[in-house]
Amino acid sequence: MPKGNISVQTENIFPIIKKFLYSDHEIFLRELVSNAVDATAKLKALANRGEVKGDVGDTTIEILIDKEEKTLTIRDRGIGMTADEVERYLNQVAFSSAEEFLEKYKDDASIIGHFGLGFYSAFMVADKVDVKTLSYQEGAKGVTWTCEGNPEYFLEENDKADRGTDVILYINEENKEFLEDHRIQQLLEKYCKFLPVPIKFGTKTETITEGEGDDAEEKQVEVDNIINNPDPAWRKQPTELSDEDYKAFYNELYPFSTPPLFWIHLNIDYPFNLTGILYFPKLGNNFEMQKNKIQLYSNQVYVTDDVKDIVPEFLTLLHGVIDSPDIPLNVSRSYLQSDSNVKKITGYITKKVADKLSELYKKDTEEFKAKWDDLGVFIKYGMISDEKFYERALPFALVKSIDGSYLPVEEYKEKVKGEQTDKHDKVVMLYTNAPDQHDSYVNAAKGKGYDVLVFDNVIDNHFMQHLEQKLGDVTFVRVDSDTVDNLVQKDESMESVLSEEQQEEVKGVFEKVVTQAGSTVVMKALSPDDQPVTVTRPEFMRRMKEMQSLQGMQFGDFPDSVNVVVNTNHPLVAEKLLKEKEEEPRQEVADYLYKLGLLNQNMLTGADLTAFVNKSLNFLK
Ligand code: ADP
Repeated sequence: MPKGNISVQTENIFPIIKKFLYSDHEIFLRELVSNAVDATAKLKALANRGEVKGDVGDTTIEILIDKEEKTLTIRDRGIGMTADEVERYLNQVAFSSAEEFLEKYKDDASIIGHFGLGFYSAFMVADKVDVKTLSYQEGAKGVTWTCEGNPEYFLEENDKADRGTDVILYINEENKEFLEDHRIQQLLEKYCKFLPVPIKFGTKTETITEGEGDDAEEKQVEVDNIINNPDPAWRKQPTELSDEDYKAFYNELYPFSTPPLFWIHLNIDYPFNLTGILYFPKLGNNFEMQKNKIQLYSNQVYVTDDVKDIVPEFLTLLHGVIDSPDIPLNVSRSYLQSDSNVKKITGYITKKVADKLSELYKKDTEEFKAKWDDLGVFIKYGMISDEKFYERALPFALVKSIDGSYLPVEEYKEKVKGEQTDKHDKVVMLYTNAPDQHDSYVNAAKGKGYDVLVFDNVIDNHFMQHLEQKLGDVTFVRVDSDTVDNLVQKDESMESVLSEEQQEEVKGVFEKVVTQAGSTVVMKALSPDDQPVTVTRPEFMRRMKEMQSLQGMQFGDFPDSVNVVVNTNHPLVAEKLLKEKEEEPRQEVADYLYKLGLLNQNMLTGADLTAFVNKSLNFLK
């Protein structure tokens, strides 16, 4: 048997292949199936030019497991190789490119998942590899190349009758998982799902219905187990696809998931080549779960689902597929970020997404509003993190009022300006992050003619701050905050039924009850229908605390001070409390009203809450 040495001048790279690529062993399958696809594509190209004699026939690629022989075979009906070509391509081209690859990336394991080292990755999992091949060329003889994971190889003629190549891997003990059907099925689904040539892995049973009506009969049949969809939606023209097709493709990518809100079909060939479909998923509040689901392909070969460096951070909330042979996959991450093609791709995708949203808003504003609760998260995220996107999105960045109506934030500003401008000429946007909890405050604000917004998503704190900073003339104030009254120049107090002296008396009682450091007690003659005692927390203080807690800091430094507004016109204050002549029952009434105020603010907790409940129960007895 003729034998030779793959490379004389270099060290033995086989141990390096095994060692350095340890964590990504599984990609060998993608590499070998991709080679089979290439060989098939080449054959078809030659056939189209009339350079292949006879019928091309079925070109399905097959993956076969032989458990006894402990082999895994990748079989194609592509162009095959002559003995000369085997020498040239496997011993020289493939070997030196594998060598070069290892030289470059052996210190950067992250690259390996993105880009394989080609044919020689077979030696990550196999101790021995046979390549049995027959070239398409007329009169070609079959050859077998054998290599046992060292620089020595053997070459001999064989009597292979079918055109194409079998790559036979003798899977080693450490990698015997690759002889398991389910493992191979899983890998094929991951890497080969949309390859352009049908890929068969054994057979499967399918239930079919034969006959019609009463004669209909269900039958179990064995059919080829074809892994892939060789003609995925993103490679088609948008005009060929219906909404149902887009939804079906989404389901193909993410089985059993909630249908997407809408999608963008990307299709560009200058200055770079890129196709794909991006979907807007239903997000909800837990969007970490939904992140990083975009899959990157290069000519239908799965590359990665880690596209952080290719799409802007906020777009990682989208789902779908990007396919571009122009994204350099074989370079390091830091280089990728500064690559001008990648920058252009990023910019292009951002613009496309903004354009699509703008179009949707203009075309069907009602529908857009109906989807806002899902879309909003994504748009806000984008506006915070991307300056260009902020500008594009501002016209359709909506805010939601407590009554369920939506307006673009700038239009809303104009609408409430008249009633809600403070002494610094800022428009005060009142909001609640918990409508149920803030019900009494919301009602009070509405009673005064103010509008209240709902900002209840995790991202809203950041979004409000961002808007304050960008718009310059708005300030967001939570509806239960003390500043509501101070900020808005409006005095809704009425004549007090109590004399100055009586008011001082009441104040004195409450001041003994409200003991938190830094708190204030204010008498106000409000409507008898308003709450007797309203407790608020300074907006500033609340924000400081929220910021601290976001940064994981302790609250210790800030006292939990409150502002207490006593409604001197409320019968429980004006009559019940003042009628008590003794100090102790007076304080008891004041304390009860104060606790009610705290309860309303969700600030009555623990032992205080228990005591309050017990006291209330005693009243009823
Ligand atoms: P690449 O695919 O990047 O060129 P590989 O190391 O995977 O590098 O393969 C080297 C060469 O070997 C290929 O370019 C091709 O000419 C040849 N080759 C590999 N697999 C096959 C195959 N299944 N059929 C025909 N030729 C093949």
